[in-house]
Amino acid sequence: MKGKILNRLWCRIGCGLRLSLVGLRDLFFVRECAVCGAKLDSGERHLCPGCMDDIPLTYFWNYSENGAMETLGGRCHVYNAAALFFYRHDSRYCEIVRQFKYGGDTALGLWSAHLLGDYLAAGGLFAGVQAVVPVPLHWRKRWKRGFNQAEVIARGIAESLGNLPVSPYLLRRLRYTSTQTRKRAEQRASNVSGAFALNVREAERLMAVGVRHVLLVDDVVTTGATLAACVRLLEPCFTVSVATLGFVE
Ligand SMILES: [Zn+2]
Repeated sequence: MKGKILNRLWCRIGCGLRLSLVGLRDLFFVRECAVCGAKLDSGERHLCPGCMDDIPLTYFWNYSENGAMETLGGRCHVYNAAALFFYRHDSRYCEIVRQFKYGGDTALGLWSAHLLGDYLAAGGLFAGVQAVVPVPLHWRKRWKRGFNQAEVIARGIAESLGNLPVSPYLLRRLRYTSTQTRKRAEQRASNVSGAFALNVREAERLMAVGVRHVLLVDDVVTTGATLAACVRLLEPCFTVSVATLGFVE
């Protein structure tokens, strides 16, 4: 009896403490919706309910023929491809990628990746994926940014797909290429040709443990030049599917 009362007391103290910590956090750090900037309530994470409802989702995870497959299909052999949302340069939803990639909000990146991973898992097309591979950053860019955004996304998706292994060293970036965002399509293609290499030892290690199907991950797919260059290196060893947060139409 005495034990029960003590247990309840500890529970109450614990709950009270947790609530006050959440309250304190909300008092000192005003959390805002990443898309519209509205103040978030204590239970809301990263996006306000209105912006959550309006995410321009692609639903590519439900269809084996989709826009991402069209972008990549002419360039390389991709098994399935999907993106979380349509990335339109004048859309407020680009803020999700901008704040994550350039603002260093890795929690927002991981949260978006979980959302994408949950959709991929529910859609069923990606059920055969056995490992997740991020598009690598050159070590200088990674050092400047502090993280590889594709690796953060890869880790989130891998968790949602049932704690799959992530292989950040399967591909290597050989050249330090200037930023892709404002380059024209043909410049992009030549910019990435020969920019990557396959880590043969890591490929052999993965194959030895039975990995045959990998999911290649990046933040946004625009022309598909970067992803196609990576897929072509992986093709001889693995079936390759692709997932990104944003898709530029
Ligand atoms: Zn909002």
